[in-house]
Order: sequence, then structure tokens, then C-alpha cells
Amino acid sequence: MSTHYEVLGVGKDATGEEIKKAYRKLARKLHPDVNPGDDASEKFKLVTRAYEVLSDSDKRANYDATGHENGTGQTGFGGGGGFGGGFGDIFEQFFGGGGAQGPASRTQRGRDALITATIDLADAVAGTVYPLEMETAVTCPTCEGSCCRPGTSPVTCTICRGAGQVQRPVRSFLGQMMTVETCAACRGFGTTIPDPCNECNGQGRIRERISKQLKVPAGVASGTRIHLANQGEAGPGGGPNGDLYVEIEVRRHKIFERDGVDLHARMNVPMTAAALGADLELETFDGTQVIEVESGAQSGDTVRLPGLGVPRLRGGKRGDIIVHLQVETPTKVDAAQRELLEQLAKLRGEEFAEGRMENSGGMFSRLRGKLGNLGA
Ligand SMILES: [Zn+2]
Ligand SMILES: [Zn+2]
Repeated sequence: MSTHYEVLGVGKDATGEEIKKAYRKLARKLHPDVNPGDDASEKFKLVTRAYEVLSDSDKRANYDATGHENGTGQTGFGGGGGFGGGFGDIFEQFFGGGGAQGPASRTQRGRDALITATIDLADAVAGTVYPLEMETAVTCPTCEGSCCRPGTSPVTCTICRGAGQVQRPVRSFLGQMMTVETCAACRGFGTTIPDPCNECNGQGRIRERISKQLKVPAGVASGTRIHLANQGEAGPGGGPNGDLYVEIEVRRHKIFERDGVDLHARMNVPMTAAALGADLELETFDGTQVIEVESGAQSGDTVRLPGLGVPRLRGGKRGDIIVHLQVETPTKVDAAQRELLEQLAKLRGEEFAEGRMENSGGMFSRLRGKLGNLGA
């Protein structure tokens, strides 16, 4: 039989920290919630037992000195065995009730499920009904979770006589001891199924593609999780369903960028509109809105449309739409336009040095123009 050090895979001189680390790593791998196999469960018990002893300095000192621990625990002397005595907190935490003996139930709660629903921003603003399609486990309709072919039923295991566990004598240097093991014949259930249901192969549940209508409230954002109690996978053996979580993913919108409950949009404003003032139109989730660009508007100016943003998920005021203006300077002007612009420049006293207007101007000539203007 392996020593507690070997079980945890640490040296005899391992520090408390190293022991804790080794245990955590193994426990994560072998925990019954993660790894439901009987083998893993047995290993988990051994690992936990080793940790219980080695993490307690008194017990460890005693174990180091004598090579055993006073007969409590997994390999008790005589018939008893069990997980009494020093086998405490950690075990109870994982198995509940100090490693209660007796057959395991075939009926278990199903797992929780997480799926993603991708919606448009408009649906996040207004709320929607999303058609969920998912593959899940449902209780077998033929045996209704009993795992048995209809008309038959489980029978008490002849090997363990329904206990789900068997005791086995082992010889060790300490003499004859009894170990308690999960019954291999019934896998710990205490019963066997002589005539399993054909449809579910005796699992009590089958995989099925299902669809349901998911109500998505207004105000959801990417990462919002909707919790649907008891709508996850059906459990084995007719067990209750786990929960279903739907994580919302909101697609990027081509105009609006979301910041909490506010929506930001960039709007290009022609130079003339910015100079003269204009009413421009913006498509919002509440229909077309007029954006009033005031005369003299600059790039970076904002126009706010209060209450047209995203609703708060838990009710209350909607956020705003904030429009960021971007003044567009014309990139190509024809002769007539050029003449008008030059005239305008003249009227505004914005004439630059001779020749400046004719060439398109590099950085240097532009600077020269500016300086000339300042000097004037
Ligand atoms: Zn079935
Ligand atoms: Zn059995």
C-alpha cells in the first residue's frame, strides 16, 4: 500500500505549502463533481485522507514516527472500517455527512448548461424573444427515467446484497485489515438492471435537440447571463434538471457604439453645413431624429438626444444618444467652387501669400502662409 507521501506525490520532507499544493492539484482532478468515475472517487478519498494526516503537524509527526495513524480511516482494523475518527472537515465538505455509507442513488441532478445567444443591438434596446436551439439531455420517454425496459425493474445486487459496497480483507504488515470498496457489480448503486431500457441504454435519459423561446429583456449587454432554473440537462436515472444559463452576445452595430446605457454615433457634417448650420437626419431605434447642427459647429462637438439610448436592465431611465460631429473638408473642388472659396477667403480676410492658393501646398508652404498672414 502507498504511503500518504506517495499518494500525494511529494517527498517525505515536503513543506506544508507543497503538500497543500499537491493536494489541491489532485483534488481538482479527482473531485467527484468533475470526475464521476468510481475509480476517481476512490482515489479522491485516498488523496484526501493523505492530506488530512500530512497537513496536521501532530498527525504527521505521529505518522512519520509509526508509519500509520491509530487505526482510524479507510483501512480500519477489524471489520469496521468506514470513515470515522479523524476523517473530518474536508471529506464532509465534499461528500456531505462524513462519508455516509450505503448505496448510491441512480437518480442524480442533471448538469447546468451554458449557451450563448447572439442578438442585434436593436433587440438589446427593445427586448426580444430569442429562439433557442440546443442539444440537451431529457428524461427518457420510454422508461421515464427508471432505466429499465418497461415492465421490468431493478433487482438487488447479489454481490453486495444492496449495500453498494463490499468489504475485502487485505493482508498488510499490520496484519489482516478490511477495506471498504464500491461494489464493482452494481457500481455502488446496490441494484442492477437485468433488462435495461433500449432507448436510453439504461441511462434513464437521452440526448435530444430542443427549441424554446427565450424572453430577452430590454437592456441586456454582452456578457449578461439569463438564468433559467431547472431548464438544463435532465439528470441520470430520472433525476431533476440542472439549470440553464444563456449568455447574451450583442453584435456590433454599424452606427452606434455602446457605453453602458449610452449610445455614441459619429456624424459627418459637410463644411458648409457646419458653417451655416443645418438640420441633419439620424436613424435611431426610435425612428428618424433630426440632429440640429448649429452654425459654427466644429469637429468634436456633440449633440445629445436624451432618453434614446439603452434602457437600464432593472428599469428606470433610458440612456442617451450622443452624436459626435465630424466636419468634412472638401477634398476635391472644381474651378467654380474654388473661385467661390477664394472669394469667401478674401471676404474673411483669410488670404494667404501669393501663390498659396494655387498649389495644393505642402506643410512648408502652408506654414509660410500662416506666418505671412500673422505678419500682415
Ligand atoms: Zn429509457
Ligand atoms: Zn453491488
